[in-house]
Amino acid sequence: MRAVDIIEKKRDGIELTYEELEFFIQGFVRDEVADYQASAWAMAVFFKGMTHQEATHLTEVMARSGDQIDLSSVVPYAVDKHSTGGVGDKTSFVVLPAVAACGVPVAKMSGRGLAHTGGTLDKIESIKGYRVELTIEEFMQQLASIGQVLCGQTADLAPADKKLYALRDVTGTVPSMELIAASIMSKKIAGGAQGMVLDVKTGLGAFMQSVDEARELAALMVEIGRRAGRRVVCLISDMNQPLGDAVGNAIEVREAIHALQGGGPDDLRGHCVEVAGHMLVLAGGADDLESGKQKIEDALDDGSALAHFRRLVEAQGGDGGMVDDPDKLPRAECIETYGAPSSGYVAQIHALKIGGTVMALGGGREKKGDPIDHSVGVLIHRNIGDRVEKGEPLFTIHASKPEQLEIASKQLMDAHAIVEAKVDPLPIFYDTLGD
Ligand code: URA
Repeated sequence: MRAVDIIEKKRDGIELTYEELEFFIQGFVRDEVADYQASAWAMAVFFKGMTHQEATHLTEVMARSGDQIDLSSVVPYAVDKHSTGGVGDKTSFVVLPAVAACGVPVAKMSGRGLAHTGGTLDKIESIKGYRVELTIEEFMQQLASIGQVLCGQTADLAPADKKLYALRDVTGTVPSMELIAASIMSKKIAGGAQGMVLDVKTGLGAFMQSVDEARELAALMVEIGRRAGRRVVCLISDMNQPLGDAVGNAIEVREAIHALQGGGPDDLRGHCVEVAGHMLVLAGGADDLESGKQKIEDALDDGSALAHFRRLVEAQGGDGGMVDDPDKLPRAECIETYGAPSSGYVAQIHALKIGGTVMALGGGREKKGDPIDHSVGVLIHRNIGDRVEKGEPLFTIHASKPEQLEIASKQLMDAHAIVEAKVDPLPIFYDTLGD
């Protein structure tokens, strides 16, 4: 077998076999297949797609490219969550401790920012000392002792995904349905959780632009999960506008802490309660979704979810004082609020453009390995459908240099549209698939 034959076969839209995918992916992990060949192959997959069988095989090969964790040796049933990537998505910081506070163990490995979307690991590193790199032994020990873990992919877990994910990020091959499905599901399967809730985002700031595309991706992941013997629920959620108000790193952690204190924006709370409610049902921690959601609401309101977040932060070496006082989190030098240019109804808050602005402020990476500035970001003060009067706050920029404000404010004004006619608010979720 030769890598070039596999690339050509995919270029011509022919289904690859398990053996061919195994040869190619294993070769890539061992540096026998060059980055430029893997890039060409990923681009061929982007344009030609894959059959469900092929995507399932790719997932299996990627899941088997490293260690596979068996969590049943430490907890009876662990649940996990994952999102396909969005703007302002800080839900893991709320969902994990809330689920753990309800007595259900949660083990999650997260990623760094990808394209215009922020990364959970980059965000949580705003908390001084928080260690995202754990060994598998530490991962298991922490799950057994405090019932929750939030870390990066350990070096030996799905290394094929780790390598391919970084390559896709810089080769324009992220928004391939099959590559996203295989990337997420290989990590989830190797990570060992028996049940998982997947948040498939759709809209201007998501990799899947239409609800139909998102549904297709969700159905593919449910099928891959079932074939691997896992219980999967997929929620299709809106990503036309950012989730919550904050977009950035420290600024998002601060907002998540407000949600854990029982406050925070309504859309963020509503989103977290739904995801976490499904996780409780999957794990048998609630009889039905309504009672699961009620338990999560209670955990957010009675302080137990917040206490669990503090415990998680400290278990991973982070400064619990920053959880007690989120004002201690990194704060930008220049903070400026901008008002609405006219009165009317907010018709657009373009999530992709907002994510791009935060990246340009230094909150994300242009290329692999770039440093990021945890303090910068944007606060969006309105939601689509809100009425706003001229001059009322529309957004606040947190920048490290005053000269960044002018260009960022222009970009953010351009991301907003205000119209005279009434606009309906957007739903938080469009659909639920699986289990
Ligand atoms: N999240 C992942 O883990 N992988 C992708 O490809 C996209 C989002």
